[in-house]
Amino acid sequence: MDWGIIQGQDAAVESLRRDISSDRVGGAYIFYGPEGVGKATAAGLFAQALECESKSETETPPCGVCPACGKVERGVHPDVITVRPEKDKSTGQDRKTIGVGPIREQVLERAHQRPQEGRRLVFILDNAQTVTIQAFNSLLKTLEEPSPDTVLIIVTPNLHALPPTVISRCRRLRFRSLNRAEQRGILSANLPDGEGKEEVDLDRLISLSLGRLGQAFDADSGALAEQRESALAFLEEVSAPVGKADEAVLLSMAAGVAGGGGSTRKDVLGFLEMILGLLRDILVLEVAPDVLEPWNADVEKALRAIGGRWGVSGLIQALDRVRNATRDVGEINTNPSLTLESLVISLRGTVGAGG
Ligand SMILES: [Zn+2]
Repeated sequence: MDWGIIQGQDAAVESLRRDISSDRVGGAYIFYGPEGVGKATAAGLFAQALECESKSETETPPCGVCPACGKVERGVHPDVITVRPEKDKSTGQDRKTIGVGPIREQVLERAHQRPQEGRRLVFILDNAQTVTIQAFNSLLKTLEEPSPDTVLIIVTPNLHALPPTVISRCRRLRFRSLNRAEQRGILSANLPDGEGKEEVDLDRLISLSLGRLGQAFDADSGALAEQRESALAFLEEVSAPVGKADEAVLLSMAAGVAGGGGSTRKDVLGFLEMILGLLRDILVLEVAPDVLEPWNADVEKALRAIGGRWGVSGLIQALDRVRNATRDVGEINTNPSLTLESLVISLRGTVGAGG
C-alpha cells in the first residue's frame, strides 16, 4: 500500500507526509472524521512510514517492500501496537469499551521503553469513541511528557467525544466526508473489469451509503440489533449454494417478518433497509475494503463469507432487487408478504450469477 490509496484526503495526507519527510513527527495525533473515509488506513500507513527502513532520498515512506513495512502490514511488528479491548471473562468476547486496564497494560507499561527493533514505538488507538474517560485520563501524563521515539495515533469519528485535555495535547487531522463523485470514483476504480461492471448503478449504491443506517447504527440498540440478526440470518440462507438452500426455511423467515407477531409495513421496510445496508457492506468488502469501511464491521467475517458465495455481479443484481422490493412496499403499497416471497425467489436467482 502507499499514500495513493487514500483518496479525497489531500490535506491530511500532505500534512503527514510533510511531518515524515521533514522528520518533525509529533508525539500524539488525532485522526477524526466520518466513518469510511480512510482514517484507519491512514493510521496504518503512517505507522508503516514511521518504521520503514528504506533509505530512498526521493520517495516518501512507506516503501511497502522492506521487512519493516511488511511486518506492519501483517500486524506483526513488535513496535506497532494496536490497542485492543479486554476479553470479557464470562463470554470470551471483546468488551465494548476500552478501560484503564488495557491502556495500562498495552500502552503505559511500554511507552517509556525503547523500541525493540524499529525506530519508534507506535500506538494506534482505533475506535477511540469506545475508550472511557478514565482510560484517557490515565494517558494524560504520557501525553504531557512524551518520550521522543513514541507516537500515539488516536482514531475517532467524533473529536468532541474526547476530553479537551487530550485534544489540546495532540496534533489534529481532520478527514473530510467524501462527496458522491469521489465515492463513485473509488468504487468504480475498485470494481473488477468485465462482467456486470457497466451495469452497476453506482449512484444507487452511493445513495445507500449516505442513508441513515450508515450514520446511526449502534449494535447496542436492542430492536435494531435484533432486526440485523434476522436480516443476516436471512442473507446467509439466501446465499447458500444452489441445492443447499432450504426454500421453505427462507419463505418462513420472510413470512415471519411480514406477518408474524402483528408486524407492520414499517417493520417490513425496516427489514428491507437492513438488508440493503448489509448488502452494501458485503459489496464494499468485496470490491474496496481498503478504502471504504463497512458499517457493520463487527460482523465482517460473516459478511465476507456471504460475499464470497454471492459474487460481485450477483450482489449488484441482488441490491437492485431489494431496492425494488423496498420501493414496492414503501411507495406502491403492495402486499408486504407477497413482495417478500417473490423477493426470496428472485434473490436465489442472483446467487453465484457470474462475477
Ligand atoms: Zn519500507
